[in-house]
Amino acid sequence: YNAKMHRNEYSSYEPEMNRKSHDRLRLESDLRRAIEQEQFTLAYQPLINLNTGKVVGVEALVRWHHPQRGLLPPGDFIPLTEENGLILQLGEWVLKAACKQNVAWQNAGLPPMMMSVNLSMRQFRQHQLAERIKGILDQTGMPPKYLELEITESMTSDVEFASDMLASLKEIGVQISIDDFGTGYSSLISLKRFPIDKLKIDRSFVGDLTQGGSDAAIVSTITSMAKNLKLKVTAEGVENDEQIQFLRERNCEEAQGFYFTKPIPANLFENWYRHRYQMA
Ligand code: C2E
Ligand code: MG
Ligand code: MG
Ligand code: MG
Repeated sequence: YNAKMHRNEYSSYEPEMNRKSHDRLRLESDLRRAIEQEQFTLAYQPLINLNTGKVVGVEALVRWHHPQRGLLPPGDFIPLTEENGLILQLGEWVLKAACKQNVAWQNAGLPPMMMSVNLSMRQFRQHQLAERIKGILDQTGMPPKYLELEITESMTSDVEFASDMLASLKEIGVQISIDDFGTGYSSLISLKRFPIDKLKIDRSFVGDLTQGGSDAAIVSTITSMAKNLKLKVTAEGVENDEQIQFLRERNCEEAQGFYFTKPIPANLFENWYRHRYQMA
């Protein structure tokens, strides 16, 4: 019986493995070509100040126009690029494209706004990341104070390394936020020790915020902790009025989510913005 089980498992397992590694190899070679051919594009999602209703910033989120498979979300390819190192090139492209876009919007008459860009672990560990980013800022004409780099808690686990890296990033004048806050491990001590500017509350806590469970307490706690540490705070994944109401009452100053708009291409974002503020 055991032998049979084993054989069955084995025979169904192996083709599955082959298919997976085949798909992976295909995806990997597609990715290399994609970087050369610039098949990537950025979608933009606004961050709104809940007291003023103003757009304070916008997050750049990468997508891949795959020639056969269509538009792919980052979850379908970012993990692979992190494993094989292509994220360094892709990440650099994202930073440059986001800065260029921000400058273009300024030139088109939109008020100044922050541009948030996600960093991956591999980028964060990259030698001379700060110098590279400084180069991109100089090259694109983007004022450093408008660039916000989003890191995750896991990137701060090597406290020594992270404080040095964050210090060198702060030195070039950019802002730092902790993305998906609450889903990783980070001690309050290290939070206090790092030169960070903002916590972004992960959307898994925001989704059921008003359902009377523990998420309400978690969001309230993160918000007041951020206040005490003099950090800004953004709630991610806001989808309805009730959540907005709750966040306002708890003095969470910023929100981002489908409630305002999904991430959209640059031209649509500009239309959305002009329409929202009745600009010409
Ligand atoms: P993130 O940085 O936490 O970005 C927010 C994600 O939540 C986005 O997914 C966005 O579409 C989604 N979202 C925003 N509002 C709502 C909402 O109200 N409801 C729901 N259900 N979802 C909402 P997306 O664009 O698929 O990106 C997923 C993740 O991929 C990002 O999470 C980020 O960690 C990563 N990512 C995106 N672009 C880049 C990039 O350029 N570089 C790196 N390293 N990672 C990136
Ligand atoms: Mg993010
Ligand atoms: Mg992120
Ligand atoms: Mg997030």
